[in-house]
Amino acid sequence: MTARRAVAIIGTGPTGIYSLKHLLGAGLPLDVTLYERGPRAGIGMPYSPQTANKSMLANIASIEIPPVVSTYLEWLEAQPPARLASYGLDPEDLDDRQFTPRLLLGEYFRDQLLDLVEDARAAGHRIAIHENTEVLDIGTGEEGLTATTLAVRDGPFDRVIVATGHQFPDVDEATRTYFPSPWSGLIEAAIPAVRVGIMGTSLSSTDAAMAVVNQHGRFRSRNGTLRFDLDPASSDLEVVLMSRTGVLPEADFYCPIPYEPLTFVTGPALAACLKTSKPLDAAFDLIKDEITQADPAFALRLGLKSLTADSFPNAYFASRETSDPFEWARRNLQEVEYNKAHKITVAWRYALLRIHEEVEDIVADLPEADRERFDSGLKKVFVDNYAAVPSESIRRLLALRDAGILSLLTLGEDYELDREESVTRITRRDGQVDTFEVFIDARGQKALTSEDLPFPSLRRTLLENGQEIPDVSQDYSLIEAGSYTGRLCLAALPYLMHDRPFVQGITACADIAEAIAAGLTTRRRRRLVS
Ligand SMILES: Cc1cc2nc3c(=O)[nH]c(=O)nc-3n(C[C@H](O)[C@H](O)[C@H](O)COP(=O)(O)OP(=O)(O)OC[C@H]3O[C@@H](n4cnc5c(N)ncnc54)[C@H](O)[C@@H]3O)c2cc1C
Repeated sequence: MTARRAVAIIGTGPTGIYSLKHLLGAGLPLDVTLYERGPRAGIGMPYSPQTANKSMLANIASIEIPPVVSTYLEWLEAQPPARLASYGLDPEDLDDRQFTPRLLLGEYFRDQLLDLVEDARAAGHRIAIHENTEVLDIGTGEEGLTATTLAVRDGPFDRVIVATGHQFPDVDEATRTYFPSPWSGLIEAAIPAVRVGIMGTSLSSTDAAMAVVNQHGRFRSRNGTLRFDLDPASSDLEVVLMSRTGVLPEADFYCPIPYEPLTFVTGPALAACLKTSKPLDAAFDLIKDEITQADPAFALRLGLKSLTADSFPNAYFASRETSDPFEWARRNLQEVEYNKAHKITVAWRYALLRIHEEVEDIVADLPEADRERFDSGLKKVFVDNYAAVPSESIRRLLALRDAGILSLLTLGEDYELDREESVTRITRRDGQVDTFEVFIDARGQKALTSEDLPFPSLRRTLLENGQEIPDVSQDYSLIEAGSYTGRLCLAALPYLMHDRPFVQGITACADIAEAIAAGLTTRRRRRLVS
């Protein structure tokens, strides 16, 4: 008889849930303990009431979400109409490309976790869920790893999966005038009608703007147009989004899913680039070939033939940077909505979307100088392309603009940010100073290092072993990390971002989980990044 494997999963967001799902598929008898520091397991940080309200949208639709037990669309279709209506959804209008409020997606994941656990128990596995239980440390012992919570030390575990997800500054690091992230207490905070600065222009920045403006007025849809009606008492409200380039994100575009294969930018072709003396330039030649084949007119318009990995980003952003960002957003919105209605794919956008996933695999192996060039150039193009936001988010930004509340500030490469007790000041290179009574840093998740790990014993061991960035194998188990080696799988996204800069999103969580489960039944391990 095969021995039961004891596994601890720390964190029950999408990564924890998909890990459980794939472990159960490995065909071994399991004894799984799930730990969740929040009050309700299965929701995950971006989808929880602590960090989102009903106005905040997910930028992933059912068609892209790997099903846990059922698809997101099947789950939505099974919900009572009144529940859907409370999230602004019409049961008649549900479809698999629709973006829904993040809170609803969180409810889906929770329900799926509970269904999964019920099925697993019925199949003879032992599953325990500990809610309101934060794991404070992960220890080692002869028999296996241990998980320490406030109350107990559990274990031994054959495998511990760290699926702790996002790590943003704590609520107590925020003041009434400065929020180090939109997830550090902003959702519950009362923001007065003052000049509010938001650093960043991504979906997180839109969320931050929503958290503020919804306290001072209402969005109303009339004849297909969205308007924002500001409360008369809040006429002093001003929201300023800011970034170095001052461009807004574009709206999510239609494309075939699952992704069609690429011709030139393939795994083997990129691996061959690494063997050349100029890996990034060789990879960029492939990227040029791919884009030119997909969309010759775009390639011609941009002058792609004569561009390099360093000049391509400037050419890509040039017309946006010199246009009025809100007018650009209006045109872009019209275009993507038309394309969605007519199922038209803009070939260059689709090519870039697929290319970034392939290119990510070689980023960590680029020589240092190439890596720096990549980070300051091509990476920004890829992020701009995949971080396109729901059309509804653009509609809201335009409605705020039309209501005279929203503006955009271009900071340029050089600026200074000074936090004072009651205000935050931004000084630009030309000496212009902007003062904000409330300031929200919405620049998103940063890549973290071993030093940032919240588990002291693990942190110490990694640092003693000289691992500033945790080194993981293909099944995400640690390498050369003393007794943690091969036993602790590090699936916490911020710690993987250094080597895999685009690792985020629900599909990435599912891929990581699948690789972890595969490792449970395989003995040979190779480095994730060689
Ligand atoms: C604001 C925001 C919006 C996003 N929106 C989308 C989107 O629309 N679509 C998309 O695909 N991706 C989105 N993402 C990307 C995100 O990375 C993934 O969707 C997903 O949430 C990552 O899942 P996770 O399980 O790794 O982490 P999380 O969702 O962060 O979950 C981690 C869980 O671990 C728990 N935990 C942490 N530490 C401990 C501990 N010590 N002990 C016990 N429990 C612990 C937390 O309470 C949490 O429940 C978004 C990210 C952010 C920040």
